[in-house]
Amino acid sequence: MLNAAPRSRVTLGSTTITYLPDGEVHLDPTVFFPASAPDGWSAYAPYLDDDGRLPISVGSFLVRTPTHRVLVDLGLGAVDFDIPGMGSFTGGRLIDSLAAEDLHPSDIDTVVFTHLHHDHVGWTTDHAPAPNAVHSGSPTGLTFDRARHVVDRSEWEFWNGSAELTGPDPEAVQKPLSPVVQFLDRGEPIVPGVRAIPTAGHTPGHTSLLVTAPDSDERVLILGDVMHTQAQVSETHWNFRFDVDPKLGRKHASGCSTTTTTSVRPSPEAISRGTSSATSCRQDCSIAGPPLPSEPSLGYRPAQPVSATAQSARGPAWRTSTVS
Ligand SMILES: [Zn+2]
Repeated sequence: MLNAAPRSRVTLGSTTITYLPDGEVHLDPTVFFPASAPDGWSAYAPYLDDDGRLPISVGSFLVRTPTHRVLVDLGLGAVDFDIPGMGSFTGGRLIDSLAAEDLHPSDIDTVVFTHLHHDHVGWTTDHAPAPNAVHSGSPTGLTFDRARHVVDRSEWEFWNGSAELTGPDPEAVQKPLSPVVQFLDRGEPIVPGVRAIPTAGHTPGHTSLLVTAPDSDERVLILGDVMHTQAQVSETHWNFRFDVDPKLGRKHASGCSTTTTTSVRPSPEAISRGTSSATSCRQDCSIAGPPLPSEPSLGYRPAQPVSATAQSARGPAWRTSTVS
């Protein structure tokens, strides 16, 4: 029995990174990973549900630094729908997950989008975009109305004006964001301790977030949709169906899967956090790069290659605590 990933937390000194569940999707694995057809999943059966679908937890990361409260991605929103032949999509728990952290949407000062696929923007307003949703009226405003909303400029320009179903809904997301959206400045951290790392490929402006803390020698890399499943750690040629630039997408996925001890946990008990909007890996992921010149105290250490098998045998290298 696979269960959606629970609310869980990693601590870097005075900074915490907490996974906030919003929902889950169950996808036909060979439809979403065409290179895996017809039987490439036989070695990964523990990652599939009883119906042979790939379950993926969808949510946000809450990054609490000494000075800021940042949300990375906004989940699916309150939706519940099936797309025949593709999968099911259920969301709506993000605000409750935030409340469990004793936070209200107005407590969030920064929203960062890794990219603008529909399952990363669901709580932008009180109207969740869904392929079969019947919108009655217009959104009443941004859910996180006191927050800066930040995204890569090329990502915004790629989707803005588009009604593509996999992207941000024109009425529920694009229109309300348009007057307030801010673009990433690659030269500056988004907030102290949170820095954008360009990882285009899945989408044109896909961005990962590198989290550091002055009182910790570890790093956390929030990978967005660089990878969607643990199987991609070893099956590096398995592009996701909606990767805009498959070659570039594979480059970034390989950059993490071949040289890092990722946080994705090949556990049959829980749908991995290492999926969709909820992927992270430790400081030694190659796409995080060398030590940042402005942060010489991080103690970066080049990683030895660790295979998925070795990772499984070692157990999680990731100090995660489930939050009750
Ligand atoms: Zn995506």
